[in-house]
Amino acid sequence: MTLPSFNLAGKVALVTGCNTGLGQAMAIALAEAGADVVGINRSAPTDAEKAIKAVGRKFFDLRADVGQTDKLAGLVSQAVELAGRIDILVNNAGIIRRNESIDFTEKDWDDVMDVNLKSVFFLSQAVARQLIAQGQGGKIINIASMLSFQGGIRVPSYTSSKSGVLGLTRLMANEWAKHGINVNAIAPGYISTDNTTALREDKERSTSILGRIPAGRWGDAKDFKGPIVFLASEASNYVHGTILTVDGGWMGR
Ligand code: NAD
Repeated sequence: MTLPSFNLAGKVALVTGCNTGLGQAMAIALAEAGADVVGINRSAPTDAEKAIKAVGRKFFDLRADVGQTDKLAGLVSQAVELAGRIDILVNNAGIIRRNESIDFTEKDWDDVMDVNLKSVFFLSQAVARQLIAQGQGGKIINIASMLSFQGGIRVPSYTSSKSGVLGLTRLMANEWAKHGINVNAIAPGYISTDNTTALREDKERSTSILGRIPAGRWGDAKDFKGPIVFLASEASNYVHGTILTVDGGWMGR
């Protein structure tokens, strides 16, 4: 029996929010594994584009706010026009708003839910329609969180959105497995990116978080390169509806 391939040559990956952080590292990893990449970003993904082109892959730059969910189907059509097809979708774009629940505003609820949960469903739906039309299956990978499993504090819309991502991942996996579409999620632990700047600057919170991570360090965006290539490749063809924690052991404590 031969080892399944992690090679993504000939594949096209659509990645949201690849101008910084985890999205940037994952988009570059997919390109290093052989895929061309279409990025959906609000601002120029200059570093990602440079790194992807440096490994000889194509990069297509789409500019949009994924929170405007009525535009998502049109973006998928544009991606197909530019790149010829789609094989992999990474729903990475995400935001967080922090405040006491007692003072939390409806705007901070809606903004986060639109970007972190509603866009995940409607972009996945548009991509799944394309994958079904292409008839060769595909991979959808959602970015969840430790707060898909735990409550957290002062982030009610973030916890709700990421808990929703967990359920939605399983539901979409159940419905689309029959089309050869694998829907899975990666749940990052505490990773040094813009998303966690406020936490890392809070000395008390950051010391208590670090003390609970068995690996003894905050995660780095590069820690997501292996997991994303695994879930995007044929190596994970029988993996459906799973949430892969990449957290230095946090959830096991
Ligand atoms: P980040 O802030 O560096 O990246 C977020 C990305 O999403 C950026 O590229 C940003 O431009 C994009 N984005 C945000 N709103 C958007 C919108 N409306 N339209 C298009 N793009 C938009 O943070 P990150 O840590 O790299 O976050 C990536 C994902 O990982 C997010 O879904 C986040 O919730 C999740 N996550 C991060 C951590 C962590 O510790 N850093 C932990 C758990 C989950």
